[in-house]
Amino acid sequence: MKKILVLEDEANIRSFVVINLRRSGYEPIEAETGAEAMEKWRVNPDICLALLDVMLPDIDGFEVCRRIRASGSKIGIIMLTAKSQEIDKVTGLMTGADDYVTKPFSPAELTARVDALIRRLGASEDEKASVEISSGPFLLNTRNRTLEKNGQRLKLTQIEYLLMKLFMENPGKAMSREDILSTVWGSDFSGELKTVDVNIRRLRIKIESDPTEPEFLTTVWGYGYKWGY
Ligand code: CA
Repeated sequence: MKKILVLEDEANIRSFVVINLRRSGYEPIEAETGAEAMEKWRVNPDICLALLDVMLPDIDGFEVCRRIRASGSKIGIIMLTAKSQEIDKVTGLMTGADDYVTKPFSPAELTARVDALIRRLGASEDEKASVEISSGPFLLNTRNRTLEKNGQRLKLTQIEYLLMKLFMENPGKAMSREDILSTVWGSDFSGELKTVDVNIRRLRIKIESDPTEPEFLTTVWGYGYKWGY
């Protein structure tokens, strides 16, 4: 059964949503606050969709949405909004939500939106599974050999592309300069290790907000580099 996170502080609306999702064959995971939602989401990595209420006692639903997206997650997100002004925010500020439903909504409307989004996610999943690697704000497409950051295409040389692929395929792993050199340039390349540093420096200018304080491609002193996201 597909797990759906239901974040709603009003108990009667939450149970209404939960009952209807169960009836449609989903497994609802309930949360009453933004903090509880983040915790439930953390311990249930197989959640495929989240219904997020906007007005909550702690952090608002948009912030929960933003945090989920900031982690690189592509789960479906539907905002449960109460006011037209909140809808403006959903559509205008690009919070990363896929859809929204305005309260009050009927069970049929809710499950239709959920079913539609699940279908859409399933279709794009099959298409993309083998060719895309995502990490934080980055999306690497191994078929087109392209890289996007927050949806914006970055122009990379082929060497820079190969470096990104190596790092994004090995998140959190310290890579020695020797290994980077032989993987990217080939084992018969007779260049110096400095070549790695020069290219990393250029790559950082393209991918980091502040290349002098790299956030993603960090230095492992005396050894090499690491994809730190
Ligand atoms: Ca609320």
